[in-house]
Amino acid sequence: MRALAVLLLVLCAACGREDARADVLVIVADSLAASHVSSHVSGGVSGHGPARPTTPAFDAFAAECVRFEQAGAPAAWTLPSVASLFTSKPQEVHGARDDELALRSDLPTLAERFADAGWSTRAIVQTPVLSSRTGVGRGFQRYEVLDFSLASFERSLALARGALDEAQAPHFVYLHVAPPHMPYQPPPPFRGRFSAESEALAHVDGSIASARAVHRARLAPEHPDVVRLAALYDEHVAFVDARLGELVHALRARATRRPLLIVWTSDHGEAFMEHGEQGHNSNVYEELLHVPLALAAPGLSSRVESTPVSLLDLAPTLLELCDLPALPHSAGRSLMPLVRDEPFDSERALLASSRHYENHPERWQVAVRSGRFKLHVWPALGRAELRDLELDPLERNDCGAAHPHVRERLLREFERLQREFVEAPDRGELSASEQRALRELGYFDDAGQSPEGTRR
Ligand SMILES: [Zn+2]
Repeated sequence: MRALAVLLLVLCAACGREDARADVLVIVADSLAASHVSSHVSGGVSGHGPARPTTPAFDAFAAECVRFEQAGAPAAWTLPSVASLFTSKPQEVHGARDDELALRSDLPTLAERFADAGWSTRAIVQTPVLSSRTGVGRGFQRYEVLDFSLASFERSLALARGALDEAQAPHFVYLHVAPPHMPYQPPPPFRGRFSAESEALAHVDGSIASARAVHRARLAPEHPDVVRLAALYDEHVAFVDARLGELVHALRARATRRPLLIVWTSDHGEAFMEHGEQGHNSNVYEELLHVPLALAAPGLSSRVESTPVSLLDLAPTLLELCDLPALPHSAGRSLMPLVRDEPFDSERALLASSRHYENHPERWQVAVRSGRFKLHVWPALGRAELRDLELDPLERNDCGAAHPHVRERLLREFERLQREFVEAPDRGELSASEQRALRELGYFDDAGQSPEGTRR
């Protein structure tokens, strides 16, 4: 009898522990620039973008939890940024930095940590860029790749909701939705919300072709075509914001008593000719790196945190929150000390990179951020320039001469990254159907090379 009682106690303890484990939902809205998120713009954090009420749902969610108002993507396009989110490693180390490259198979991932600890792991990704050949699906027991259509967007929301409505084992769900990635084609009633249709601008319809035309013509940000395109993007942002808001609201009101932890962010931003690019990919200015990031977790009270952080910090943070083992040699660190007002190095260097084209490595650019300063490095040119984001939010003036010690310190961080560069990463060849899917989104034109801008 005594042995049975002990066994029951052990089982009850195990049940109690399982009940306490939180469901985790990570939401990534592809290409959602912080400079087009209304709570960021009204806070004056970014120097770009119109002040429109684009994201009332995100703003309301963020007001109730921890909002990081200076969060940075580690890369300027989807694949390396998401691979960094899952591994807490920069693209130079994890290897998934161009179309046909894959995540290094020896790196443990966030999803593997959750799966090993008994969570059901599921990814719903609405983009062919994150196909399973890239290796980013490692650790997910279910990994579903959907196309860019509106129907698939709605289906991805339903799948995420269905997974988290299940009452069995705790779930770790990664939801990556395509909007507001181009084409910017918001459905009614969002279309027309920020810009009236006009015959003179009918050629700027939000299609990939119209976005590329803006990019190729090298139009200024104030040009009516660019302004029109940005308005369509903002309407697309408002659309995805409303639908994600409904999802979050429904999940927080669900019947299950399991705690729910939600992250709402983006993989990178979107440029509207602030520095010669429309779309994303090829530079490391803030319009491409600055992303919204809000975290809701049981026990966390609402606050706005202004210390610069990175999506590289997300895996260490989630693992600490769920009491799981950290990933080895993380480039990021848990943000929980910051949230708890414990000592935190707010001047640490944060690295981010543009796309590293296998056939055009000279296009590679790196940013090293520390506090208000950011070093831009063009490795092929042997050039490095320092920016002061407080005094110069549009990143136009080199202030290296005024702050030589900062410049040197950040340059050493870049040199360390160069030494860690994995020269021969794992490969993930594109199948014919994947090439076709990407080509339909406008990839691989221009003599087989993905052009700068308008991609990912
Ligand atoms: Zn993306």
